[in-house]
Amino acid sequence: MASTDESSGRMCVSCGRSIAMDSNVCQHCGHDFRAPAPVEKKKTAIPVIGGVLIIIAGFMGLAMGGILIAIDVDELDTVGLDVAGVTDMVDDIMTACGIIAIIVSIIVLLGGFFGVMRKHWGIAVVGGVLGLFVIGPFLLGSILSLIGLILVAVSRKEFE
Ligand SMILES: [Zn+2]
Repeated sequence: MASTDESSGRMCVSCGRSIAMDSNVCQHCGHDFRAPAPVEKKKTAIPVIGGVLIIIAGFMGLAMGGILIAIDVDELDTVGLDVAGVTDMVDDIMTACGIIAIIVSIIVLLGGFFGVMRKHWGIAVVGGVLGLFVIGPFLLGSILSLIGLILVAVSRKEFE
């Protein structure tokens, strides 16, 4: 009866099998009970939440960049609003801004990803800072990134 064995002895904290009461080393997996248990780094969800917020901001930035590139101001030509090729220039500027927004957003996404992974704290912070410039609907991208940046910044100790 396995249940009787388990109740009479004690369980190995490493492999979970029952071991003799007086043994210092598990006869199944070799776990040494005399050695102090390794101190686990205290981990919270704070950097993960921060990272997720920064990632959301990054996706908003990607969407904004895509919209800026996709918008074709030249369509105004057809309704007679083009003045001396101004719409062409505006279109070029918007496309350039869109490309910059996408490049920045990729760095923001990378920072958010490292925040979730609790790795490369510096890159996570850079992503959060760049995310501040991501303008989503009602500045939502900047707000999310700011909260994410604060959460990542305060949980530096949890990063590898
Ligand atoms: Zn064991």
